[in-house]
Amino acid sequence: MISLLFNSVATPFWKWQRCGKYNLWTPNHPLSFLTISAVARKKMARVLVGVKRVIDYAVKVRVKPEKNGVVTQGVKHSMNPFDEIAVEEAVKMKEKKLASEVIAVSVGPTQSQEVIRTALAMGADRGVHVEVPAAEYDLLQPIHVSKILAKLALDEKADLVILGKQAIDDDANQTAQMTAAVLDWPQGTFCNKVEKTDAGLTIAREIDGGLETIKTKLPAVLSADLRLNTPRYATLPNIMKAKKKPLKKVTPKDLGVDTTPRIEIISVEDPPVRQAGAVVADVDALVAKLKAGGHI
Ligand code: AMP
Repeated sequence: MISLLFNSVATPFWKWQRCGKYNLWTPNHPLSFLTISAVARKKMARVLVGVKRVIDYAVKVRVKPEKNGVVTQGVKHSMNPFDEIAVEEAVKMKEKKLASEVIAVSVGPTQSQEVIRTALAMGADRGVHVEVPAAEYDLLQPIHVSKILAKLALDEKADLVILGKQAIDDDANQTAQMTAAVLDWPQGTFCNKVEKTDAGLTIAREIDGGLETIKTKLPAVLSADLRLNTPRYATLPNIMKAKKKPLKKVTPKDLGVDTTPRIEIISVEDPPVRQAGAVVADVDALVAKLKAGGHI
């Protein structure tokens, strides 16, 4: 503001120019870059997006014979579908100049870098891989991921954290809520629409039987629901470009997060197998069958 006043006073009006990038009228003064960057910085948010590597939604998941988890070896993995929606929302914000930078974070084994690269190919600027060895990752729970994301949000000076509403592998639907709690930031969960306002965000949330509209200030944590947007496909040129984008590697220990499990998994079972149906000749046969089975 001081810079703006100084420039206004010190610059003859004919030297004012339109600054295309931020669509502002700014004085053509040697110090005018201060004005632009100050205004831009105030308006723009740095967004942290969580991207989890999960078994691909189209794969038929098999329980391990030991019944302590599911088979992951040799199985196709991809980015959690709700996280694609979260990345899309963050990238859209950047395209609308509402966000200055999009950082994609994945917690998991080395292969988690694949989903970070996908996020980078969709338009994220840089990635952070929080490396957790595969054996430990099986025991990692949403509380640990929340503490990791919260610490990164503070370290990276993020104004907004966008996560998926749930990971399709553990179906926990806990990480966004717990990240907001750890940070003591407001949360907007199950987002259907997000609009930036001067005061913060206006969010339409998916609730039973309709939409609820709320307002929140920044910083905040959001979770993306299915209808928030349609995620873009990563194009081949962008996949190539993504290989050159920065990707930092850290461990939970570097972030001071203890990942000792809090919950013990007792057993993992297949869902009950549905019995095969039978074709009956006519209504009388159907009624007879239902009576015989004690259903009517
Ligand atoms: P959940 O609470 O496990 O259902 O996960 C909700 C959301 O938290 C996911 O859609 C991700 O955006 C984020 N998340 C959970 N686990 C991870 C992880 N290991 N790495 C990055 N983000 C994660």
